[in-house]
Amino acid sequence: MIPRLAVIGVGLIGGSLARALKRAQVVGEVVGCGRNVEQLERAVALGVIDRYTDDPAAAVAGADMVVVGTPVSAMRAVFGAIRDHLAPHAVLTDVGSAKGCVVADAEAVFGTLPERFVPGHPVAGTEKSGVEASFAELFERRRVILTPHVESAAEAVDRVRAMWQATGAEVVEMGIRHHDEVLAATSHLPHVLAYTVVDTLASMDDRAEIFRFAAGGFRDFTRISSSDPAMWRDICLANRECLVEVIDEYIGTLTRLREALARGDERTVFETFRRAKHARDNFYRE
Ligand code: NAP
Repeated sequence: MIPRLAVIGVGLIGGSLARALKRAQVVGEVVGCGRNVEQLERAVALGVIDRYTDDPAAAVAGADMVVVGTPVSAMRAVFGAIRDHLAPHAVLTDVGSAKGCVVADAEAVFGTLPERFVPGHPVAGTEKSGVEASFAELFERRRVILTPHVESAAEAVDRVRAMWQATGAEVVEMGIRHHDEVLAATSHLPHVLAYTVVDTLASMDDRAEIFRFAAGGFRDFTRISSSDPAMWRDICLANRECLVEVIDEYIGTLTRLREALARGDERTVFETFRRAKHARDNFYRE
């Protein structure tokens, strides 16, 4: 049970977490915090939060669990605003899609990493943003990755794990760097590909004709390019070291395929596609 939960950044992720915990009846009061009062009033009207403030320090006062659900670029400022106002027993966590940057921000603000700080990342989302898009089922049967640091207290990790389990998620733990490498490959690179494919096509002279004839596959493949560009700019920049590495690997594969196509090398083209089909079919036995 979490008697008082503070959610700083009541958007898709923060709002869905609050909804899921309320549905599971494992939370007492939910205090929301953000900059846009209209959105916070909407969150109260939707029953996502019980009350709100636009002051992060006031939001965390007396809270047992504090979840930072803002874009990663805002986390440093949020940590600075709440640093001296957290209750001694409060557990602090976040939902940021990149972890190295969040941990570095926390270290810069707190001096040393607080033992009651447990970084986290729910690997679930949609291309929509804001509290209106939040829903209680978002994390069901999805993974949540916790990346505790060496100083994280076991009891604080247990509390964050129990919170996410109450939403129906499967909780796993990972090293901070390993998280950023894995997510660069599985989430951040696909977003970069979707954005750049659509951007390339949209700048072609016959774009109207191209999009008119785009079929279902194109729609599926490019769905994630309608995600919030500011949030994805933040995520990609925050994880740029790992992302640039995996982009380079991808460019290597793409270049080899391009060359094979240019010289009419059937075997290489077929082998590339066959390996990919085999890998995907193995990973996702639908
Ligand atoms: P979102 O729907 O845009 O919500 C972000 C919320 O943060 C908004 O309600 C915004 O409200 C608030 N906010 C922004 N800047 C703030 C600041 N400086 N101080 C306080 N509140 C602030 O975004 P989201 O999709 O929930 O993403 C939130 C976090 O979850 C990000 O760190 C993202 O990396 C991570 N994440 C996203 C996904 C996904 O697929 N969307 C998946 C996993 C993790 P105001 O404008 O009112 O301040």
